[in-house]
Amino acid sequence: KKYVYLFQEGKASMRDLLGGKGANLCEMTNIGLPVPPGFTITTEACNEYYTNGENVPEGTWEQVWPALAEIEASTGKLFGDKVNPLLVSVRSGAKFSMPGMMDTVLNLGLNDDTVEALAANTQNERFAWDCYRRFIQMFGDVVLEVEHYVFEHILEIAKEKQGVQYDSELSPESLKWMVSEYKKKIVRHTGKPFPMDPREQLKLAVVAVFRSWNIDRATFYRRINNIPHDIGTAVNVQSMVFGNMGTDSGTGVAFTRNPSTGESALYGEYLMNAQGEDVVAGIRTPNPIATLAKENSEIYKQFVDISKRLETHYRDMQDIEFTIERGKLYILQTRNGKRTASASIRVAVELFHEGVITKEEAVMRIEPDQLDHLLHRRMDTDATLQVLAKGLPASPGAASGRIVFSAEEAERLGNVGEKVILVRTETTPDDIRGILAAQGILTSRGGMTSHAAVVSRHMGKPAVCGCDALKIDYAKGLLAIDGVEYLQGTILSIDGSTGRVIKGEVSMVDPELSEGFKEFLDWADEISRLKVMANADSPTEALNARDFGAVGIGLTRTEHMFMDPERIPIVQEMILAQTLEEREDALTKLLPMQEEDFYGILKAMQGLPVTIRLLDPPLHEFLPHSEELVVEITKLRINKNDSEALFKKEILLSKVRALSELNPMLGHRGCRLGVSYPEITVMQARAIFQASARLIKEGFDIHPEVMIPLIMGKEEFLMMRELVDDTAKLVMQEQDVHIHYKVGTMIEVPRAALLADEIGSVADFFSFGTNDLTQMTMGLSRDDAQGKFLPVYLEKKLMKTDPFVVLDRAGVGKLIDMGVKLGRSTNPDLTLGICGEHGGEPNSVEFCHIVGLDYVSCSPFRVPIARLAAAQAVI
Ligand code: ADP
Ligand code: MG
Ligand code: MG
Repeated sequence: KKYVYLFQEGKASMRDLLGGKGANLCEMTNIGLPVPPGFTITTEACNEYYTNGENVPEGTWEQVWPALAEIEASTGKLFGDKVNPLLVSVRSGAKFSMPGMMDTVLNLGLNDDTVEALAANTQNERFAWDCYRRFIQMFGDVVLEVEHYVFEHILEIAKEKQGVQYDSELSPESLKWMVSEYKKKIVRHTGKPFPMDPREQLKLAVVAVFRSWNIDRATFYRRINNIPHDIGTAVNVQSMVFGNMGTDSGTGVAFTRNPSTGESALYGEYLMNAQGEDVVAGIRTPNPIATLAKENSEIYKQFVDISKRLETHYRDMQDIEFTIERGKLYILQTRNGKRTASASIRVAVELFHEGVITKEEAVMRIEPDQLDHLLHRRMDTDATLQVLAKGLPASPGAASGRIVFSAEEAERLGNVGEKVILVRTETTPDDIRGILAAQGILTSRGGMTSHAAVVSRHMGKPAVCGCDALKIDYAKGLLAIDGVEYLQGTILSIDGSTGRVIKGEVSMVDPELSEGFKEFLDWADEISRLKVMANADSPTEALNARDFGAVGIGLTRTEHMFMDPERIPIVQEMILAQTLEEREDALTKLLPMQEEDFYGILKAMQGLPVTIRLLDPPLHEFLPHSEELVVEITKLRINKNDSEALFKKEILLSKVRALSELNPMLGHRGCRLGVSYPEITVMQARAIFQASARLIKEGFDIHPEVMIPLIMGKEEFLMMRELVDDTAKLVMQEQDVHIHYKVGTMIEVPRAALLADEIGSVADFFSFGTNDLTQMTMGLSRDDAQGKFLPVYLEKKLMKTDPFVVLDRAGVGKLIDMGVKLGRSTNPDLTLGICGEHGGEPNSVEFCHIVGLDYVSCSPFRVPIARLAAAQAVI
């Protein structure tokens, strides 16, 4: 079996076998770039090393020595030679780049004899001994596993003794002294002298690189980056070039474009008279790459040419390592550069304009979830931060403000323009207004799908959750972290993109919706078939969604309008009404308010469809909790002076109790409310059509779509539809306008999906309400499952992902697929969409594309993500 490839034998596509670094070294060699000669030992050899009980597979060394002879031939040097010795580097390199995670040894081949030869040949004693002490240090650390600090300590003493600050100032005498000290330490720590035979050194180093595949930090890095553990690393053996030969030599790293902004300009650093990692290690402050233009314009020009060439060749931004040896440039590594989300977009857009990649390729270059980082305010990366604690990065973006410990306080201060951070052990739906009024949310309990996290993401509010270092004392109104107490009103900052909790105020930068970003998303729209709409409950949200490119509203929840503090008493009046007349009275008061709501949203979305869902939640959600009422009633009873109030509260309590349900999720909600109280449906329909009529008369192009929730079958839908149609007819007559509208339904009860042919024959559209559909199909109550037993299912691998986050294709998906096919079979014009949280999740969006939906609808902040995911689903 072939375990060893010379650089001229491989190519970029052989990454599996040669690792990323090796494959690219081969590629660069073959396109004629100045790469020092070398060879790669395959990842297969590494894997067999492990399956073989940690033995290098048979035949490997037999292939290594001839390959080494090839390097000797092309460099004119000999490995271990006392006259003209060849030195090599032994470099790790897996298929996926794992920067700095595994080991590399430089200057291998040096010993007490070859170091003298190197000094004589280069007439540079300092250089030769600098290489030698670096070699012993790296080899000692990586191969012989002598702790790093042992060597660092001797280096410090040497500098001190000679009275210099930098490594590069060490005299040959100091370096020689270091070498002898290093050798002593190695004998002391390993019981054996430092190996002097270069071939022995090489064998040991190769095995050490194999072994570095399994050191802790490498395994950890693979785990968090989802890199498989069984693909192994290749080993690259390469002839050394020297950046530490003097002031006409140097080493550096550069990106072909700016990795944080994407700007098309070389971005990097270098150091003269330095080797290997000196630049990264921060031994001396490196120079920006631009200075090289002045210091050595010839080399700079060469490097610019090569970097352009590499970028065009790989058709992506490159991260390049180079070394200059006595005025000659060598390239030691290239790879696709890691970059921020905004840089990703800018680079992709500009590469298209430069004719390097196609639009489709550009669209595929960005992970949809990355866009999340672009749409929220971020911390200024240059700011110095005092991090107090770390929690889960629950909702991206950053916020600063005074800490408060209750939703009421957040609301009170927030509404007078104070910036606050709401700090809670966890939040509940009752806290919603406080959350809205706060700049950011910080909780000590709860995960990425906790209430605080979900709600914050929906609202585009930064949140850090599950930060268990926080000890919150509501009674005292303070928060303790590591024993330090922070009173209510203290200014803290949170970074929802990283989970950091920071002391004091931090400067923020606005998200840049750059022209490039817009252009990029327009390409996505050109490619995709799925349309992207938004879930929005107010004109502001609707406008927001429009800005982000939503082509309609797929879900407006009317109940949010009922929650308004000014309206809640009227809503309660309606609920508590004993007679039809009383209820209609209350509804008459609500009508103009709802009309204004719909007027605003329809106007904001003129020209585009707006889907309005009729009242959905169980009515008791609009009433006070019975426990609270009991407390109030008890107080009134004790005081005995307000029998009127007492009586009212008692009635209220009995009504609350009467409305309370054992299983509200499956209870009196959705269209079942309209079946019991048609007057509610009629009021809502009237509000929609009156608002539409007004707008049409004002000259707006309006497309209202009325959506009936929680339908189980055709008859129920028809009953509701009739109420809506009749009201529409009436309003059109009264106002003398024609309103173009649709009436459709949510498919969220499994039975509705099963009977979609019947329902489809009388509906204009379906919207799959996948939150409820998932709950009912799987028999899982989201709020009960997520915090409690769902994590166990995930941990025990009974489920790959949380079905409330990523749509369950196998089960829920099957119902959707069925619903689509059955619905279209009786009504080819049926419009089909989805409006659950899944509508903004890339994997679920892809599924929606596959089953042939017409649109997805998601929260405004996820619209760009869904647009990109919809395009990627096509490619
Ligand atoms: P990593 O994967 O951690 O980046 P590398 O194998 O790229 O490790 O090696 C680190 C550094 O060592 C390189 O950036 C380069 O500066 C230096 N280096 C590696 N091989 C050679 C060589 N043959 N000649 C000179 N310097 C080298
Ligand atoms: Mg490298
Ligand atoms: Mg629902």
